[in-house]
Amino acid sequence: MSVLASRLGKIQPSPTLLISSEAAKRKAAGIDVIGLGAGELDAGTPENIKNAAFIAMQKEQTKYTAVDGTAALKEAIINKFKRDNNLNYDPSEITVGCGGKHTLFNAIYATVNDGDEVIIPTPYWVSYIDIVMIADGKPVVVKTDASNGFKLTADSLRAAITNKTKWVILNSPSNPSGSAYTYEELRSIANVLLQHPNVYVLTDDIYEHILYDNKKFFNILMVEPLLKDRTFVLNGVSKAYSMTGWRIGYGAGPKDIIKAISMIQSQSTSNPCSISQAASVEALNGPQDFIHSNNKILVQRRDMIVLSLNSIDGVKCAVPDGAFYVFPSIENLIGKQTKAGRLIQNCTDFANYLLDDALVAVVPGVAFGMENYVRISYATSDAALLEASNRIASACSDLR
Ligand code: PLP
Repeated sequence: MSVLASRLGKIQPSPTLLISSEAAKRKAAGIDVIGLGAGELDAGTPENIKNAAFIAMQKEQTKYTAVDGTAALKEAIINKFKRDNNLNYDPSEITVGCGGKHTLFNAIYATVNDGDEVIIPTPYWVSYIDIVMIADGKPVVVKTDASNGFKLTADSLRAAITNKTKWVILNSPSNPSGSAYTYEELRSIANVLLQHPNVYVLTDDIYEHILYDNKKFFNILMVEPLLKDRTFVLNGVSKAYSMTGWRIGYGAGPKDIIKAISMIQSQSTSNPCSISQAASVEALNGPQDFIHSNNKILVQRRDMIVLSLNSIDGVKCAVPDGAFYVFPSIENLIGKQTKAGRLIQNCTDFANYLLDDALVAVVPGVAFGMENYVRISYATSDAALLEASNRIASACSDLR
C-alpha cells in the first residue's frame, strides 16, 4: 500500500515548472538550452521595491503579521483597486496570500464541495484544473475559438452552466493565449451571469498591467458592479513588478469567502512573508513607471517573435493583446518527420523535438488543454529570443 494519500492521484506537477526545471538541468550540464517556458519576467525587481524590503528588515518587521495581510498592505491593495479599477473595498473584503496561486487555491478550497462544477475556458492556466480537482470539484472545460482569440462567449457560457455550477473562471490577459476581453465581451458574459444568481465568478487579473497597444483593461466587476457579492478578484505583484519569488498574491471578494480563506491560511501557511508584504506595499503605492518601461520592451519582443513565427511554414501565430506569451498553432507540422526519422504526432512531440534538437524549451499546448499549440514566453533577453526564433525556424524547416 502506498504511503501517499489517494487525493494525490487527482493532480499532476505543474507542467510549466517541469519544463523550466528540465531546461535548467540541461543548462547545468553545460547544454546551451534557451528556456522559453517560464512564466516570469527576465527583468529584476525594481530598486525602490528591494529598498523597501531592506528597510523592513532594518525595522525588524521580521515577525508574524496578521494571517491574511498587514493593515498597510491591505490599505495599499484597496487604493490599487480604487485607482486602477474604480472598485471600492473594505479591509474585511481583502486577503493576502503567498502568491496568486496560493490565494486561488484557498478561494477554491474554501468554496468548492464534492462535485461542484467550475467552468474553465480553454486554453487555461495549468493550475486551475488541478486546484479544482484537489478540492473535489469538477472542472468543466469549455472549448473556445481561435478566431475570437480563445475567449469565452455568452452562448458557450450559457450552455455550460448547470445547477451544479459554482464558479466561472475568467483570465484576462490570458496565460497562455495573451488575449484580453473587451468591455463588450465582458458585458455579454455579465448578462448571462445576471440570469444565474448562484454562479460565482473568479476573475484572474494577474496580467492586468501587461497589456499593449493602448488597450484598456476591464474585468467583469468593472463592467457589471451588480456582480460584486459573487465576484472574487485575484491579483498579485508577481507579474506586474517582476516579483515572482517574493510570493505575494491577493484577492478581493465577499466577506464570508475572505474569512474562510483566512481560516485555512491560519491552519496552513500563517501569514505571507512579512518582508515581502512590506516590499509589496511599495510596489503598489510607489512609482509605477517600471510597468510602462517594461511593457515597451515586451511589446517589441512580442512583435519580433510573432513576425518570426509567422514566417515559418506550418506555424500560425496570432498577435496577443497582453501577458508575455505567444500561443502559435503548429497544427500543420503534425504528421511530419524529423531528419532523424522521429514522427511528430502531437504538440508534446514537437516541444520535445525543439528541446532535444533545437535546444529551445517551450510548453506543449496540451498542458493548457489544447492540442496542436505550444506556448512560448518572450520574457527573455532580445539576443536569446532572436537566437531561439532562428533555432525554431531552422528546426521546423528540417521537418519533412
Ligand atoms: N494566474 C495566472 C494566469 C498565472 O499565469 C499565474 C502564474 O503563472 C498566477 C495566477 C499566479 O502567480 P503567482 O502565484 O506567482 O502570484
